[in-house]
Amino acid sequence: MQETTRYSLTIGGKSVPTQDHFEVRNPSTGAVVGLAPKATPADLDAAVDAAQTAFASWSKTSHDERKALCHAVAQKLSDHAEEIARLITLEQGKPLNGLGSRFEMGGAGAWAHYTADLDIPVKVIQDNNEGRIELHRRPIGVVGSITPWNWPVLIAIWHIIPAIRAGNTVVNKPSPYTPLSTLRMIELMNEVLPAGVVNGIAGEDSIGAAMSAHDGIGKIVFTGSASTGRKVMSSAANTLKRLTLELGGNDAGVVLPDVDPRGIAPGLFWGGFINNGQTCAALKRLYVHDDVYDEVCAALVDFAKTIPMGDGLKDDSQLGPVQNRMQYDKVARLVEAAKQAGGKVLMGGEPQKGSLFYPVTLIGGLDNGNPLVDEEQFGPALPIIRYSDIDEVIVRANDNPNGLGGSVWSKNIDRAREIGAQLQCGTVWINKHGAIQPNAPFGGVKGSGIGVEFGEEGLFENTNVQVMYS
Ligand code: NAD
Repeated sequence: MQETTRYSLTIGGKSVPTQDHFEVRNPSTGAVVGLAPKATPADLDAAVDAAQTAFASWSKTSHDERKALCHAVAQKLSDHAEEIARLITLEQGKPLNGLGSRFEMGGAGAWAHYTADLDIPVKVIQDNNEGRIELHRRPIGVVGSITPWNWPVLIAIWHIIPAIRAGNTVVNKPSPYTPLSTLRMIELMNEVLPAGVVNGIAGEDSIGAAMSAHDGIGKIVFTGSASTGRKVMSSAANTLKRLTLELGGNDAGVVLPDVDPRGIAPGLFWGGFINNGQTCAALKRLYVHDDVYDEVCAALVDFAKTIPMGDGLKDDSQLGPVQNRMQYDKVARLVEAAKQAGGKVLMGGEPQKGSLFYPVTLIGGLDNGNPLVDEEQFGPALPIIRYSDIDEVIVRANDNPNGLGGSVWSKNIDRAREIGAQLQCGTVWINKHGAIQPNAPFGGVKGSGIGVEFGEEGLFENTNVQVMYS
């Protein structure tokens, strides 16, 4: 029998084994994928020390050197894209194909190359007889990166590349559900980066808590749930850490009466069900005008029936399982509450015993106040809500503590833009939902977070402003 692979931490450019390990399981089959290292607080201290030591020289490298090394990291990822994609599928569950792990690796490469090339220019504020004033952007120090289980590699790239491009060094901690692909990626990064620039640790949630309180870390970039984000913010307060918090969403989509229901069904479906709904900026509440409500529901059901769900390693799977039991139970609980409250199941809605494959579920007849509408389900169940008055539906769409994304669907783009401008969220899409790209800043308002990632604005969050008078 083949021995299960034991993974290690990467600290100061070296592979560091740990005494204890924990099992990482494939959500499609329950089989053990590998044994993840369980870092201790002493391992965290060693990783922060290594990052601090590396910072002394890394922060002094030129922009051109850092650009070249970020491109080299991106090239490493693309050389090993298939290996890491398989690991993502095994531990996360998403399919290799479609909008799955190969797509995730493609995104990781695209983001890394784009961010590598961004400039951090010195801004001249004044240059006259009275003197010269310049605004510089200096690296912060050690950036602690804490990542979730839904897009493990892509989100780690969103944290790590801008941090090191700006001259910081990094300690990353992936989710205990999906640590292996990130640990492997960081091991590969260390084949091209100087020792200690990017360190990878893994372990229990308590290691994340210790990172947010650690006085050797200058900034935390955290992607995960709103409740954990609040804990990170409060434990970061003592050391006044800089923070970027990318938290949960409960994105509303608003469909106007002039749409072509069959034409928009694929966009609506993938807006809601990308990665099985386990995506921060997925469409999580769909408000549809009375005039087209029945047609939109029917078109969505017809489209959804064509999408195969199955083991991610199978070529034709386009959706995989829910990643873990806790999330599965949450989806099942919210759907059950929706049914109890009189929700009309249009498709799915029955949990499968002994498996993490939850069927694609569409439920009508609900409104705000129902938990499936109010809470972030983060799984394959979409409530479809009827409305008749546009001003009133904007109020309903905004009546939520989250504010990540939102969308408006209409043939009248100007009207859709007007309505979109009234949605309280960080990103608005017209006739699509969830599209992101490396040059457009992305972040949440209200309970969905603080700060942005991507583009110049995201890069600059990895810097401190220093103004120089001469
Ligand atoms: P989570 O909050 O449970 O875990 C995220 C990370 O935080 C993990 O690495 C975990 O180990 C760590 N952690 C747990 N307790 C901690 C603590 N006390 N202090 C510090 N770190 C701690 O989130 P999850 O379930 O892995 O991810 C799903 C959530 O992430 C959803 O709400 C989703 O919307 C959100 N998300 C947001 C974005 C975004 O960009 N806004 C992107 C992806 C996911």
